[in-house]
Amino acid sequence: MNKKLIPLLVCPVCKGKLEYINKQNELLCRRDGLAYPVRSGVPVLLEIDARKLQPSSDKQPADNT
Ligand SMILES: [Zn+2]
Repeated sequence: MNKKLIPLLVCPVCKGKLEYINKQNELLCRRDGLAYPVRSGVPVLLEIDARKLQPSSDKQPADNT
């Protein structure tokens, strides 16, 4: 993907900066522990499509889905 775009991309959840993980072709939000996929060179910045990383030590909020 075009790495020049990365500084312009923000997490849709927390509006924080994303970090591109070349190895996994994902955009990582460390704050939320979410990794957004990049499909065909296009970042998919949707929380429902994001991969959850290992949870922190905090208790997770109740899942309402
Ligand atoms: Zn975030």
